[in-house]
Amino acid sequence: MSQFSFATALLSWFDVHGRHDLPWQVADDPYKVWVSEIMLQQTQVKTVLQYFERFIQRFPTVKDLGHASWDDVAPYWAGLGYYARARNLHKAAGIVARQAHFPATREAWMELPGIGPSTAGALMSLGLRQYGVIMDGNVKRVLARFFAIEDDLSKPVHERAMWQLAEQLCPTERNHDYTQAIMDLGATICTPKKPLCLYCPMQAHCKAHQQGLETELPFKKAKKPVPVKSAQVLLIQSEQQWLWQQRPNSGLWGGLWCLPIIEDPTEFTALCQSLGLKKVLQRAEITHSFTHFTWQLEAVCFEVEADQQEHLAIELSGSWLSPETVTSMGIPTAMKKLISAVNL
Ligand code: SF4
Repeated sequence: MSQFSFATALLSWFDVHGRHDLPWQVADDPYKVWVSEIMLQQTQVKTVLQYFERFIQRFPTVKDLGHASWDDVAPYWAGLGYYARARNLHKAAGIVARQAHFPATREAWMELPGIGPSTAGALMSLGLRQYGVIMDGNVKRVLARFFAIEDDLSKPVHERAMWQLAEQLCPTERNHDYTQAIMDLGATICTPKKPLCLYCPMQAHCKAHQQGLETELPFKKAKKPVPVKSAQVLLIQSEQQWLWQQRPNSGLWGGLWCLPIIEDPTEFTALCQSLGLKKVLQRAEITHSFTHFTWQLEAVCFEVEADQQEHLAIELSGSWLSPETVTSMGIPTAMKKLISAVNL
């Protein structure tokens, strides 16, 4: 099948069945496309829709985001996960706000923090409506199946070959519609688990479908079991407030507010002793899963008198905040689970 017919079949399908009303599908605002692209990394459209509008209302332009403090931004991302994405977006918005213009080439986009080749392609295509090629999970899946490519796409040599293929197929005319179309096909028809080949415009020419390989492709590495780690969470209450810490900017949940988490039980006991925390009020457990490990967190709750607040805040470099206040400042989903699990 020629390049022309792949794009044509896809675009004809898109005209009738594609998504045309997403709030970031706008011709004149690369910033909205940018925010949506970053939110959509590892997150489904229906979840992003709940966050996108709120985020754009609060930070309507790249200047608003670039000039905001991280503490202002964090609550609007809290719950979406993968916080490094938000920190990079915030940093990059600061750079663009200072430059007072959006990057004009794929290479210039890629110089900004958090923007890889596929996101840069999407920003060229969907954001600036110029020529751009993307290679997200949807594109990889559609092309691997259409051409029955069995290679391990995590290997650079095979990923490069995939990029070449994507570039050959990607048209210059209606480029932004094609970009949206291939994402839509991957998200709604050529889905990871049960592709709806019956409704697919590529069905007659799709090699994976002809060979009955659609659910085998793209190549997946055998999944390693996800390790389970446990840790204790120190919950100190005083006058309806809890002692929270802001996590360092780099690493897990960077910049978000959390209760102190201690992975080593001996260290936890020693810390409680050194802080004079003796009588446990309550214990509560939650489990939180990340892609690379599962965390079993046990909250151990203590109550202290008001005259100890200052001393403990200094010792733990923390702040006394009510669960309601800290939630509005941006906390990870696991902390929300903990707040619901304890009954103080
Ligand atoms: S025919 Fe099936 S496997 Fe092939 S591209 Fe379409 S949905 Fe995917």
